[in-house]
This record gives sequence, C-alpha cells and structure tokens, in this order.
Amino acid sequence: MIKLQSNNKVRVYVDNYRHKGLRQKLVKELEALGIRDRRVLLAINAVPRHFFLDTAFAELAYQNRAFPIEAAQTISHPYTVAFQTELLEIERGDKVLEIGTGSGFQACILAQMGAKVYSIERQEKLFNKTSAFLPQIGFRQIRTLFGDGYKGAPMFAPFDKIIVTAGAHEVPRALFDQLAVGGKLVIPMGDTEQKEMLLYTKISDREITCEKQGMFEFVPFLKGISKSN
Ligand code: SAH
Repeated sequence: MIKLQSNNKVRVYVDNYRHKGLRQKLVKELEALGIRDRRVLLAINAVPRHFFLDTAFAELAYQNRAFPIEAAQTISHPYTVAFQTELLEIERGDKVLEIGTGSGFQACILAQMGAKVYSIERQEKLFNKTSAFLPQIGFRQIRTLFGDGYKGAPMFAPFDKIIVTAGAHEVPRALFDQLAVGGKLVIPMGDTEQKEMLLYTKISDREITCEKQGMFEFVPFLKGISKSN
C-alpha cells in the first residue's frame, strides 16, 4: 500500500487480488487481439494501470479503453500501448525515448521491460505530476523531461528506440537524427483523428524503411510547451 498526498488530498494506492485478476483478464484480451510478445504481456500484467487514472475512473482501469487525464490529455488504450511496444521489439538495456509522457503508464511498461526510459512531456502540469509520482510507485529509473518533443532529447541521444504517443502530421527530423543505426521509431501519423501507425527502421545513416501498421486514435502532437499556472 502506498499513501501519497497532493493538493492537500491523500490518495491510497492498493494493488489487490481483484486488480491482479482484472489485469490477467486484460492480458488475455490483448493476446486474443493479437499481441504476441510475452515480455509486453508480462509488463502489462505487472504494472497497476489503475494507479495512473483519476480516482473517478480507477474502477474501470482494466477495460480496454482510453481515459481522460489532466490537462485535457488521455492515457492510451492498453491495446495501443501493447501494440506500439511490441513493434519496438524492446530488449533489456535499450535506451528508449518516449514523446508524450501523459500519465506515465507507457513509460512504466517500457521500464518494466528493462529499458532505460527518457520521456518528454510538453504539458508542465503532467510533467510535474509524473516526475513526482513515478519514483513514488517504484519507477525511479525513468527520466522525465519537460519540453517540446519535436526537438527530441539531443543531450541523451542516440536512442535505440523512439515512441511517439501523440498523433503527428510529420516525423520531426530531430527524431530521425537521434535514432541509432539499427534503431526503430514508432509514430502515429495522419491529418484526421484516425492516425496510421508507422514503424521506421534506421538501416544506416542514409537509409530508413517505413512500414504501415494500421489505424489508431490519438490526441494531437503539438509544437511548443504549455506552462501550468
Ligand atoms: N504515453 C501516454 C499517452 C499520453 S497522450 C500515457 O501512457 O499516458 C499524449 C501526450 O503527448 C499528452 O500528454 C500530450 O500533452 C503530449 N504531447 C503532445 N505533443 C507533444 C510534444 N510536442 N512534446 C511532448 N509531449 C507532447
């Protein structure tokens, strides 16, 4: 049990047998939907998604749905998290850059799989929240950054894997530059709410391949930062 205080409110975080049972059911559902990577399924089974939701939605955390979080953003569908993570073929020790920390759930899945995670968020409110919260629930190894993901995180590059968790119109050039040779970049892209999931592989400094991996819904990838007041 973890007891945390924020804005003068105390919230108690408990991961009990009922939550664990619901999580196992969700994992079975993700398997039935085609997720095959055992390491991804084990990570989803291990990370208590209800910790990342507002108390109003915590009961529904193991439904395969997106939910609102602060700053008018969303925590992605578990299927979307699993799908993007599977495409990256995460290995222990991979250096991974995530664009769009949001609730921090995706970052924890990557960290749970043994990746060294750097995660950027443009909403200061969400950055402040996850920077305090992730270490409190045991994910001390995730490096949270406040900034514009369009610029990536040049000071920590190159990355073995890059994951964009907001819907883009273009791949920022900086992200290709910060990807290691042999590395993979997954990004949802498109001009409508439905985005095409693209998987780029950097074959060499001059050659990048791209595969289309189906349609998904995302909040927009926006330029610049948003300060909390
Ligand atoms: N990975 C998150 C999903 C959050 S939704 C999770 O597991 O909960 C996408 C997030 O991307 C939002 O929080 C949004 O503020 C952020 N975002 C959008 N454009 C961005 C940018 N240019 N740089 C960094 N974060 C961005």
